[in-house]
Amino acid sequence: MNSGVEPVRGSAVVVGASLAGLMAALALARIGMEVDVLERSDDTGRTGAALQAEPGLLEQLTGRGAASLRAAIPTGVQTWFAVHAALRAAADAECRIRLHQQTNVREARQDTGRAWVVTGDDKIFEGDIVIGADGHRSVVRRSVCPDKPDAEFAGYLIWIGIVDELAIAPQRHWPRDLAILNGGGHTFLGCSLPDDAGTREPGQGRLGWGWYDAGRNDLLRAQGCVVGNVVHHTLRAADIPEATYRELAREARKYWPSPWRDAVLDCIERRAVIGTPIAEYLPERLVDRRLALVGDAAHVPTPMTGNGFSASFRDALALAECVDECRGAGFEAALQRYQAMRLEDVRRLVQGGQNFSRGFARGG
Ligand SMILES: Cc1cc2nc3c(=O)[nH]c(=O)nc-3n(C[C@H](O)[C@H](O)[C@H](O)COP(=O)(O)OP(=O)(O)OC[C@H]3O[C@@H](n4cnc5c(N)ncnc54)[C@H](O)[C@@H]3O)c2cc1C
Repeated sequence: MNSGVEPVRGSAVVVGASLAGLMAALALARIGMEVDVLERSDDTGRTGAALQAEPGLLEQLTGRGAASLRAAIPTGVQTWFAVHAALRAAADAECRIRLHQQTNVREARQDTGRAWVVTGDDKIFEGDIVIGADGHRSVVRRSVCPDKPDAEFAGYLIWIGIVDELAIAPQRHWPRDLAILNGGGHTFLGCSLPDDAGTREPGQGRLGWGWYDAGRNDLLRAQGCVVGNVVHHTLRAADIPEATYRELAREARKYWPSPWRDAVLDCIERRAVIGTPIAEYLPERLVDRRLALVGDAAHVPTPMTGNGFSASFRDALALAECVDECRGAGFEAALQRYQAMRLEDVRRLVQGGQNFSRGFARGG
């Protein structure tokens, strides 16, 4: 818990309580801000892939050095769920952070002295700054970048699944390194993940896989996942046609070696596959006066870069550092400084991914 002895040093409203929002909230609370975090969902039905966690992630965000924080997010590849749960527990333990779930933000606004958001049921939350951490279809981005509000469909999707190693046939070698495979114009990534207890013992951990596929754009459009050039939602397991499951099973047998083929077939058998259309957003700016963007609201690189999460982490740290250092000069100056610190790096990240995307989508 926060000791409560530090003075309150301003207030922030963070829109979105996924990874970027929770990290921004923790970093801002660390420098003494009161933070309201607004999240439209109630934590059910969430999906996520595998993420690379840096050493000392929670310690850097919270400014505390307890061993329990080090253990909560171990360094290395982790499931989205494990990282989210640890960030959420840290936010729940921080008395400067108030989380409001099932709170859908409709718009973000500002005047010379304050910034605020309006929710779907017309409630207003205001603060010195508003931080958009509301993902690739950000509402806050519409106010920060009204001339370029939407991320664009990159022309392909990623099929994703996770399987317990115990559920598939015993293997001679359980992979522990990232596998990158190509076949039939597809690209496949496979990685080993710990189970809920953190074990990676051979045969007792999990395998996570992502399969990039540029040949199913008609399906995405037919299901309303992509409309025009904008990604609307992920293709859920229940909405994947039986014929597509059969085709994927056929292609998995043809292109992917064991144990990846077995992992895919197990997920298909359990209907535990999702198809996420890939979006990309190359930002021109991250800030408008008292409004700022972090994470996928700010920049959407293809997951092929493997760096969306670490970019969100750097956003959170930079944001808190700038607000902390610019107190005398005011919040607008602080956010300008944040933009100056982050914009070029995140543009390079997105552009690097676009080079992959253009070639891959053309080949599909
Ligand atoms: C398929 C896939 C694979 C990935 N793989 C990797 C990887 O291997 N490595 C890596 O580093 N990164 C990866 N990423 C990217 C990484 O997951 C994100 O960059 C990171 O999690 C930050 O996301 P976010 O919190 O900004 O956005 P999101 O996770 O999209 O969260 C946005 C949050 O805002 C909420 N929200 C949205 N609108 C509103 C609203 N109007 N009002 C209130 N709340 C709202 C949403 O409910 C959600 O909780 C991947 C992404 C995808 C899609």
